[in-house]
Amino acid sequence: MMKLKQFLIDRRENLQLAYGIFLIILIPSLIAYNTIFIIAKYNDNTDTILNREALAIGRTIYSSLQNSMGDDFATQEEIEKIYKRNSEFENIEVLIPEGDNFKVIASSKKDDIGKVLDFYYYTIAWDQPDNDAVATDSLKAGTTENGKSLANDTDTNGRFWLVAMPMQDANGNKKAVLSMKISSKTVDDLTDYSRNNSLCILLITVLITILFLSITVRLWDYVVLYKKIKQIDQIKDEFVSIASHELRTPLTSIKGYTSLIMEGTFGKIENKEINQSLERIMISTKRLETLVEDLLDISRLEQGRLSLKMENIKTEPIIKEIVSELAVNAKEKKLKLIYKKPEGNMPLVYADSERLKQILTNLIGNSIKYTEKGKVTVFTEIKNGKYQLKVADTGIGISPEGQKNLFQKFYRVKTEKTEVIQGTGLGLWITKQIVELMGGKIYLESIEGQGTQMTVVLNLATEEEEKGEKKK
Ligand code: ADP
Repeated sequence: MMKLKQFLIDRRENLQLAYGIFLIILIPSLIAYNTIFIIAKYNDNTDTILNREALAIGRTIYSSLQNSMGDDFATQEEIEKIYKRNSEFENIEVLIPEGDNFKVIASSKKDDIGKVLDFYYYTIAWDQPDNDAVATDSLKAGTTENGKSLANDTDTNGRFWLVAMPMQDANGNKKAVLSMKISSKTVDDLTDYSRNNSLCILLITVLITILFLSITVRLWDYVVLYKKIKQIDQIKDEFVSIASHELRTPLTSIKGYTSLIMEGTFGKIENKEINQSLERIMISTKRLETLVEDLLDISRLEQGRLSLKMENIKTEPIIKEIVSELAVNAKEKKLKLIYKKPEGNMPLVYADSERLKQILTNLIGNSIKYTEKGKVTVFTEIKNGKYQLKVADTGIGISPEGQKNLFQKFYRVKTEKTEVIQGTGLGLWITKQIVELMGGKIYLESIEGQGTQMTVVLNLATEEEEKGEKKK
């Protein structure tokens, strides 16, 4: 069983291709067979109807000629009249037996009058019982049997019907044969027209079906490709996750030993340049550490492994902590970093305190990074029953185009001013994901050259949650 499954998986692409080709051949063939079958059936039916009609026409002509029986001249006149009125007649003639053959006594073709003909069809007609007629199936010109021509057909175009019957005088004696040649051109033209139409439609249907099927077959390729991409994406995620984990250990060791050296654990360092270098190592290590943490967060978020410790928390101390941590950075850039404490008591907020710190570090850090002069203000308020945390700056601002893409992974606004500022474009994507995981929202308002204000909206602790919290 397993072997069969593996066999099918190994040959999946070939099987899909074969299945596609099978469909491409089968479906159009079925459509073609169906149309051709219907056309053939239709032709059979029209032939039967035409045969009956030919007989009916024959009988009508017979009755209109009966009055002039015996008078060859009157018969000739009547034939000419009928012939003029009906375009489907190729020939109408009356013949009388002369020995084994038949002599034309009246005909729509005047030249034939007086001719003695030996077509065997007249014999068959003469032998018919009274008032009965013979009608051929549709014929092609030049039809012969036993070396004898069936009828006079040298000047016939296309298909025609032969109808003939014996004629009787008033006493019921057979006197002559009435013979008619009826063209089936009108009907055949119509049939041809419908058939050609059907074949054209068939061709178009078959082409469309083939086109449609080949697109479907190509869609399977995309499905296979999509699955492969997903697999590769998963491999990439795993790689990032493993690589980030592995980077952490050497980083901790570099950081640990650097700080031991800086603290003078292995002897006091007098050389200023060595000290400066150590500081630079420390700064770079910290940056690398942030990057590794960001990468780990990304793989956790993408694989849905980032777990939150949601509880009812006081946000004030958290904000104070981060603001004082980042005050050094603000001071370096001669910026004011202000935390506007809310008036009165702020209700508890339902959030993960460590992740809230990360969000604050990111937003305030960005404001400091992207502000050249002025200030960064952090403040909070309650609006529409929600907690709002705002970080506003007087920085370079973000263009409308940038604002649209800001929360995408790896996105960085590219301007002369941002070019010199280091960053990965990961911070805001992570921030947004975490805020949303906490059930909140993040949005921004920004004017280029004037400043940016980021707002994080979070849920307040509900009464039930507060009660639950107290019980704990
Ligand atoms: P980065 O590591 O580049 O700072 P982020 O995801 O934190 O990545 O931010 C994405 C981009 O958004 C930044 O590259 C910057 O161009 C823009 N940006 C973020 N915050 C601000 C801000 N306060 N003022 C101006 N631009 C900002």
